[in-house]
Amino acid sequence: MSEPQLTSDPSRAAALAVAATLQAAGHTALLCGGAVRDGLLGRPVNDFDLATSATPEEGQVLFPEAVAVGAQFGVLVLPRPDGDIEVATFRDDGLYVDGRRPSGVAFSDPPRDAQRRDFTVNGLFEDPLTGAIDDYVGGLQDLRRRLLRAIGDPAARFEEDHLRILRAVRFAVQLGFAIEPATWQAVKRLAPLVEDVSAERIRDELLKILYYGRGRGLRLLRDAGLLPFVLPAVEAMQGVTQPSIYHPEGDVFVHTSLVLDQVVLPEPHAASDDDTRVLLLACLLHDVSKPATRTVDPDGRIRFNGHDHQGVAASAAILEALRLPKRLVERVGALIRAHIQIAATPQMRSARLRRFLAQEDLELHLALHAADCGASHGNFEILAFLRERLETFANEPLIPPPLLNGRDLMTLGYEAGPALGAMLRWVQDEQLEGNLQTRDEAVRGVRAQFPNPGGVEPRD
Ligand code: ATP
Ligand code: MG
Repeated sequence: MSEPQLTSDPSRAAALAVAATLQAAGHTALLCGGAVRDGLLGRPVNDFDLATSATPEEGQVLFPEAVAVGAQFGVLVLPRPDGDIEVATFRDDGLYVDGRRPSGVAFSDPPRDAQRRDFTVNGLFEDPLTGAIDDYVGGLQDLRRRLLRAIGDPAARFEEDHLRILRAVRFAVQLGFAIEPATWQAVKRLAPLVEDVSAERIRDELLKILYYGRGRGLRLLRDAGLLPFVLPAVEAMQGVTQPSIYHPEGDVFVHTSLVLDQVVLPEPHAASDDDTRVLLLACLLHDVSKPATRTVDPDGRIRFNGHDHQGVAASAAILEALRLPKRLVERVGALIRAHIQIAATPQMRSARLRRFLAQEDLELHLALHAADCGASHGNFEILAFLRERLETFANEPLIPPPLLNGRDLMTLGYEAGPALGAMLRWVQDEQLEGNLQTRDEAVRGVRAQFPNPGGVEPRD
């Protein structure tokens, strides 16, 4: 690192200023964790965390705005415009009692603080004012070799904190690293321990594994033996064979992991972005009900009737259990519901097609469809048809302003009530089909179609 003080990154500059204040008061203050790792790898840094010899009380004096979070762990959070900065006192973690958190902590020094961290590449320190790196755990060598290795005895570290097992898979795919053999053996042997990790934490790690790892992430979860504990419905996709004309690639699991590999995420995308999450989860779960709906005709033909509709309910159950926000669960469900229907769009009447094209998340529907085709038969005709229709409709609103509203119908003598909704829908259908273009035509059309204002019965 040549000129560490010169930075155009406002978050790094903010962390640097905090470190400078701590150092000027006589404390040690070093960048740690992902900021050092990603900085050395030349990757964008998610958050700048500092470790310091200052106790939380000493930190609080220098930074009155600091908020003590987890005071017993010695962590202060400093609110800054470009993102919070975490300042943690060097510490030893005491005994882990419940596979989750230490029973107590004691303040310590950088070499001991490094030992409590999870992986060697996450255990590096950097003085942000000089760029000097302190490596007490062999992290620099593992960064060069692109290896994810637990600090100390992998099994002991995973038994202390079961979340680390999922973090191993997540960092492997996030960094594109191999997992060092002893660490990988421990991941596989202790995989069942993730069962008692909280749903929210499992969700957050899974979302990152899908985002950074795509199909590789899914295959790594499978190879680690983690799927039965985090996504049993996806484990069940293995060995579920499909008609080879449509699915030359293989079984439902193979197809699903290829869809994840192929999907093109609309820009801008990020692990924490809602559109990104919705699309990745829809890719993961679009065929989740294939195992349950699979039937074989007497002539040997394999079918998965209703797997789209059943998949909506099955995915909702899975995602709600993972505490995904309800709104996102619904959006994933809408993508799954439409993933078969989309093949029928060339046969749709204009009104139905326009409504299909006007629906929320259309770009995500198209992205899922493209990946679904690319990961199977490779026929993109439907996609081309829909793109062409969108082009044709581009200069007019897909759903134009209504020609008539409920009040208009009542002025025409029709009675308020649910029948008005059906009449308005008829007007909109005819408008979308191009049969009604003006308000006057709509009035004449309604009178002809619904001649009896009292009991609104359509004419045919
Ligand atoms: P990113 O922010 O890109 O996800 P990170 O390495 O900064 O990566 P964080 O979860 O922000 O990861 O944690 C910061 C650092 O704290 C880690 O690099 C690691 O040194 C330590 N750490 C975090 N969680 C654990 C854990 N469960 N066990 C041991 N050390 C951990
Ligand atoms: Mg971090």
